[in-house]
Amino acid sequence: MKLSNSILFQQKAYINGHFSDAEGQRTFPVFNPYNGDKLADVADCGVNETRQAIEDAERAFKSWRQLTGTERGQILRKWYELQIENLDDLAKILTLEQGKPLNESRGEIRYGASFVEWFAEEARRVYGDTIPGHQRDKRIIVIKQPIGVVAAITPWNFPNAMITRKVAPALAAGCSVVIKPPKLTPLSALALAVLAEEAGIPAGVFNVIPSSHAAVVGGELTANPIVRKLSFTGSTSTGKILMKQCTDTVKQVSMELGGNAPFIVFDDADIDAAVDGAIASKYRNAGQTCVCANRIFAQEGIYETFILKFTKAVKAQKMGDGMKENVTVGPLIEESAIKFVEEIVEDAIGKGAEILTGGKRFGAEKETLIYEPTVLTNVNPDMQVFSEEIFGPVAPVFKFKTEEEVIELANDTPFGLASYFYGQNHARIWRVAEALEYGIVGINTGMISTTVAPFGGVKESGVGREGSKYGMDDYLEMKYLCWGI
Ligand code: ADP
Repeated sequence: MKLSNSILFQQKAYINGHFSDAEGQRTFPVFNPYNGDKLADVADCGVNETRQAIEDAERAFKSWRQLTGTERGQILRKWYELQIENLDDLAKILTLEQGKPLNESRGEIRYGASFVEWFAEEARRVYGDTIPGHQRDKRIIVIKQPIGVVAAITPWNFPNAMITRKVAPALAAGCSVVIKPPKLTPLSALALAVLAEEAGIPAGVFNVIPSSHAAVVGGELTANPIVRKLSFTGSTSTGKILMKQCTDTVKQVSMELGGNAPFIVFDDADIDAAVDGAIASKYRNAGQTCVCANRIFAQEGIYETFILKFTKAVKAQKMGDGMKENVTVGPLIEESAIKFVEEIVEDAIGKGAEILTGGKRFGAEKETLIYEPTVLTNVNPDMQVFSEEIFGPVAPVFKFKTEEEVIELANDTPFGLASYFYGQNHARIWRVAEALEYGIVGINTGMISTTVAPFGGVKESGVGREGSKYGMDDYLEMKYLCWGI
């Protein structure tokens, strides 16, 4: 791996300020999903390393919490600056282990770093409250304190930003963190650890324990009473397991889980803008984001025009190695991911769907993990493309007649993360925005993620919000002082 700053490439766990081997020097391999090349052999942590990291984090928490918000903010600011200075290298590592196009990786590093910048600033704005007493001789004061040691379990689709979105508010609040990155993409997490150390984040405040035994490490992170909070981003099924595991020690949880985003285009929409939004929302990261448009609904008056323009734009996508600058759609993360997409498309075809473009693996090589950007029509709610999170570059386009009908279809899912719609009528914009049972609504836009807004879902899509002025709340406890005078 050719990097300007080769020290960013680390294969060992980062515990208590040291890069260290796992017990017995156990390792697991990490591969480039584009060509299958082995990139690294990474330390394979188990229960003992996890426990050690938790205990170190507890020790570090005691002094980290004593710093002022401004002091913590200054260190975080330095971490942010180092991420920006090393942007190209961080993006390269990300594309190599994850497959997304370099341009998207650079975008992710900027997005990831923006959380560190934001919470560096927010660190000194953890305000309390005073409440008029209920008796003449009582004064009531509310203070906010860091929750304690935080465990973070993160996914492979955003190997960098899903870490900083949790760690930045946690550290700003005064918590210490133990992160278990995904086994498919641990290298971005370890590169962040290098920069954390350089920025002056004290030993034990930020720990990274890669592992190929997610359930074992997850078991310890959730059972250990020292850990006071679990922040998880991943599938709803794993999130449910982890929430259950957290009950015995009554840990607080933040959960960013799956989605099944509707993307609605009304008859009065700007069709070209809707096509651009649908492309951005659907095909970014080859369809592997939890806010990707999963079900596109086009109203009957514009259905044919939308389909025509959308399919043309989909055909213009460039597939290939994410390391090449003009590529827009890279490989899926692993064989099981592409098999799932194949199954879901087969299910739709078997039930009468029609392929307008795509519908198969790219190119001649059988072993490729690239799935062609695909558009399906003649789809209906009995198909898996309606109910499952596709997590691949496949867009089913449903036809609808009325606003009532499409709201019912859009909400007909246990998920409630992102939703999108396009239209011009102001009264309807309000009605639809209020009727959608989702944590996030994109109105005439397909790009909704930003540091300054609260990201999170309702229903089975999660608990808690990340980013924005609310993002720190997930890492703070409220305490009230009832003061007799
Ligand atoms: P995906 O299907 O996107 O890989 P997962 O929910 O399986 O989503 O993975 C998200 C993160 O959760 C990864 O870091 C993974 O290693 C971790 N994980 C998966 N299963 C468990 C588990 N039983 N306990 C703890 N962590 C887990």
